[in-house]
Amino acid sequence: MSDLRELYQQVIFDHYKRPRNRHALDHPSHEAEGHNPLCGDNVKVYLRVEDGVIRDAGFEGGGCAIATASASLMTEMLKGKRVDEVAHLFEEFHDMVTGEKPAASAQLGKLEVLAGVREFPARVKCATLAWHTLKAALDPRPGRVSTE
Ligand code: ZN
Repeated sequence: MSDLRELYQQVIFDHYKRPRNRHALDHPSHEAEGHNPLCGDNVKVYLRVEDGVIRDAGFEGGGCAIATASASLMTEMLKGKRVDEVAHLFEEFHDMVTGEKPAASAQLGKLEVLAGVREFPARVKCATLAWHTLKAALDPRPGRVSTE
């Protein structure tokens, strides 16, 4: 188990040091900005949706290792997903990082590396910031997202 935890930490660190998809999209169909004042994390999420499918996803900003790695892993996983799957994935991810479900759903795949944050309640908002921002991007209402 401790080997697994170490592996998870390595994956998080790798995504923090070399974030995937950390760039704005040229013609995003959806975008939103989110802020976690508790930690100082800031992310902007960009999506290109065509025919109900997320064709491309990117983000700018970041913050601590957890917030940055979560945005990186999330944008990686979103490509090719249907927009109508997002609400369910959000729930699964939220349940995993808050510990509401004992095991991570298989659908989350690599995002399981973030399951360890359940032991650090203050970090849950870092892990979910990108997801709250994603939700806001798909449900556009004016204003900025805050985890508070
Ligand atoms: Zn943070």
